[in-house]
Amino acid sequence: MEKLFESSMEEVDRLVGLGDDEKGLLREADAAAAELLVSEFEKYVERKYNPEIAGVLRRHNLMGVPIATKFGGRGARQLVESLFLERMGQTGMGVITLADVHMCLGSLAVQDWGDDEQKARYLPAAAKGDVLFAYGLTEPEAGSDPASLKTSYVRDGGGFRVTGSKYLISNGSIATNMIVFARAKGDSKGVTAFLVDTKQRGFAVDMRLEEKMGLFTSDTSLVSLDGVFVPEEDMLGEEGKGLSVAYSALLNGRIGIASGCLGVMEDCLNQVRERTSSRFQHGKAIARHQLIQKHIASIESSLEACRWLVYRAAMKKDESGKSPGDLSLRSEADRLSAVAKYMASKSAFESADRAVQCFGGFGYSIMSPVAKHFLDSRVARIYEGTDEIMELKIASSVLGKDFDAYR
Ligand SMILES: Cc1cc2nc3c(=O)[nH]c(=O)nc-3n(C[C@H](O)[C@H](O)[C@H](O)COP(=O)(O)OP(=O)(O)OC[C@H]3O[C@@H](n4cnc5c(N)ncnc54)[C@H](O)[C@@H]3O)c2cc1C
Repeated sequence: MEKLFESSMEEVDRLVGLGDDEKGLLREADAAAAELLVSEFEKYVERKYNPEIAGVLRRHNLMGVPIATKFGGRGARQLVESLFLERMGQTGMGVITLADVHMCLGSLAVQDWGDDEQKARYLPAAAKGDVLFAYGLTEPEAGSDPASLKTSYVRDGGGFRVTGSKYLISNGSIATNMIVFARAKGDSKGVTAFLVDTKQRGFAVDMRLEEKMGLFTSDTSLVSLDGVFVPEEDMLGEEGKGLSVAYSALLNGRIGIASGCLGVMEDCLNQVRERTSSRFQHGKAIARHQLIQKHIASIESSLEACRWLVYRAAMKKDESGKSPGDLSLRSEADRLSAVAKYMASKSAFESADRAVQCFGGFGYSIMSPVAKHFLDSRVARIYEGTDEIMELKIASSVLGKDFDAYR
């Protein structure tokens, strides 16, 4: 594990230069990842949410990695955030899901769209981990098409009352605050983003969705809002511009998920190397059989290819962050984040499948670490935009608006 961590950090350092603070942050990530390995596996075997994740990240001061230092965060640029999540990804997608939702979808949305008062109120607490974010876009009847969401709000005194259901929400029953997307009652067009306090009356966790095929260590819930009060000052971004908030958060989130998938591939490679060099069949280590070497070559090649897709998307996002008015840079970062997420999630799942194959019968046992990756990584091809939605987005970036598949 150590060796791969080092090689990726050295390579990036050689190419783009990492500061001492950035290297320190990544070493801290290695320590947190090592600390989480045991509880992650234990909770996966029990098919339970892992309550240790947020605590370990807090202890290592890693809950606010992309939050600006003036708000108490680590101020990491996207490339470093990606290297951080790549390291955490070795522990699996459960850890990545909590970290990605809290930091990339939640904290960064407030940092990018919040006013000064919102940033001052939420970001220092999010960096400490006292605020934990969830992101409530999906509904029972609105998944790939978020513009059809039905959660609604009405104005009430100094704020709003929000009513509706949000489905498949990561961190849904543990978050202190949820970014909820809703439309004005009776208005079929604009969607607005709200920072909802989950302790408010009317907010309920209807069900913890525990019957998943994997990703047990991440909390996924169905929540409902019944006239939940949101004060005026907790509208995030402009009224009617909520989908812009949602999509820009997803740009951040997709790079995060893709970065986590790199870690999954790295762990698959490590596990396979260890297992195949110590397991003997037909008189020699199975790693000496050429067909096993084909699996290893495939995982390694996918990892190397995806690393550069992910780092390229991250660097483009950093470049775009320096010129916020440049819409073509922004759109290129968005395109590259879709390509990175599409390729890295498919490659992570395929690598986990190859790893299961190299492990043979033991690979099919839930007690093998590679089975956990196989079950957990599948979700990365679904959440934050399915394979198909990524394909449409990537194709439309090639073909142009005239070939828009949604028309
Ligand atoms: C474990 C987990 C955690 C999640 N966490 C969150 C979260 O924190 N917050 C949140 O808001 N959501 C979350 N989601 C929801 C996730 O983002 C959605 O499941 C996803 O966007 C797909 O929506 P859907 O499930 O409604 O599928 P549907 O939209 O019903 O899609 C079903 C199938 O149809 C395809 N399809 C749909 N439209 C088209 C089209 N136009 N062209 C071609 N194919 C199409 C899809 O690609 C898919 O293959 C989570 C999901 C899971 C499984």
